Amino acid sequence: MIAIKKQNAAKNIAPKSIALFGATGTIGDNALSLISDYPHLFRASLLTAQENWQKLARLCHQFHPDVAVIANPAHYATLKEAAPATTRIMAGEDALNEAAALPCDAHLSAIVGFAALAPTFAAIQAGHTIILANKECLVAAGALLMEAVATHHAPLIPVDSEHSGLFQLWATTQHNPPATVTLTASGGALRDWEITRLHDATPAEAIAHPNWRMGAKISVDSATLMNKGLELIEAQHVFSLAPTQLDVLIHPESLVHCFITFADGAQLAQLSIADMRLPIAHALYYPHRLALNLPPLSLATVGALHFSAPDSARYPCLRLAHHAMQTGGATPLILNAANEIAVEAFLQQRIRFTDIAPLIEETLAIFTAPSPQTLDEVHEINHTARELTLKRIATWNHS
Ligand code: NAD
Ligand code: MG
Repeated sequence: MIAIKKQNAAKNIAPKSIALFGATGTIGDNALSLISDYPHLFRASLLTAQENWQKLARLCHQFHPDVAVIANPAHYATLKEAAPATTRIMAGEDALNEAAALPCDAHLSAIVGFAALAPTFAAIQAGHTIILANKECLVAAGALLMEAVATHHAPLIPVDSEHSGLFQLWATTQHNPPATVTLTASGGALRDWEITRLHDATPAEAIAHPNWRMGAKISVDSATLMNKGLELIEAQHVFSLAPTQLDVLIHPESLVHCFITFADGAQLAQLSIADMRLPIAHALYYPHRLALNLPPLSLATVGALHFSAPDSARYPCLRLAHHAMQTGGATPLILNAANEIAVEAFLQQRIRFTDIAPLIEETLAIFTAPSPQTLDEVHEINHTARELTLKRIATWNHS
């Protein structure tokens, strides 16, 4: 790091300004730890949060961003008082979209869920480099987003560990496109539970992920394997793959993140320790690599790596996501909306863990919509799918 500092000082290069959307989440924590470790390379120029104004104020004191945005406008005055040195404080959903278009060297999209779509879209329209952690925006509106990426020449670098791995492997596919692409999944916190016990799983048990420390929503998605389903759709869009080229394997160690298989049967894999600072640093510093101060991956210490096909009885959400990916159009958008509502209801203990998949399946069965052509249409379909799922939860018999 000292060598890099000196190098940059000699070249007089200003640190890259990073607009960090979702600064108070776990991706935010990892990104800010890198920013604080490499102040001569990166600077947090903009920070956002939904509700947690206290943490946002603390981050303003520590990182001195030019702009801070609190999505819930009720906290505007309190935040302004708590972070008086921050030049510009903005509030509300529209402010997020406005802030996303402000100049920056890279936009880190790390808000959870569908809420990331509008600001990410605004950043793409501004031609920003998009460092993409959020996957739900691609599931909800992948075709529209990737079209905008092309139109506005906005470079997109994925941060999801499997997609970061694919991104790192992609140069090898230049002359030979991959026959198939495999994403690995840890299997989540309930992987080794008896299937008959799953209906008793509490939110605390479902989010106790064995390998990664992540937000509650993605941790539940990991336990249902919906996370991997969403990631298949994410990979489909980012790497222009056909659904038939995409595949999932359970790999409890979370060290091999993905592999590609060529026509001749050769496979190339990407391995690294399960630490999100690695893919985030790769994206922030691309095309160079940082000498990160992280424990090395020692395969001799690990000894053995395990792989197995996902059990369809244990993970019905993966089948639903597969179906949505193959159907395309508005189906992944409806799947995502129903999943967000079902996961939230599970976290609030209004439904059981095993109710998540049947609820999503019902919404998919009762609601179809034409493929959305505009962002407004995406929002309308998302809204209807959420309302239908919420209505169903109100009468759900989960005894
Ligand atoms: P998190 O729950 O820890 O943090 C979410 C962030 O989004 C917070 O800053 C919160 O304030 C903000 N937010 C939530 N709702 C919002 C709204 N309606 N409007 C504006 N801001 C809102 O989530 P996370 O685990 O950091 O995940 C963030 C995204 O990154 C998710 O899409 C997830 O799938 C993806 N991702 C996370 C990891 C990980 O290791 N955590 C890995 C790969 C991908
Ligand atoms: Mg992932």
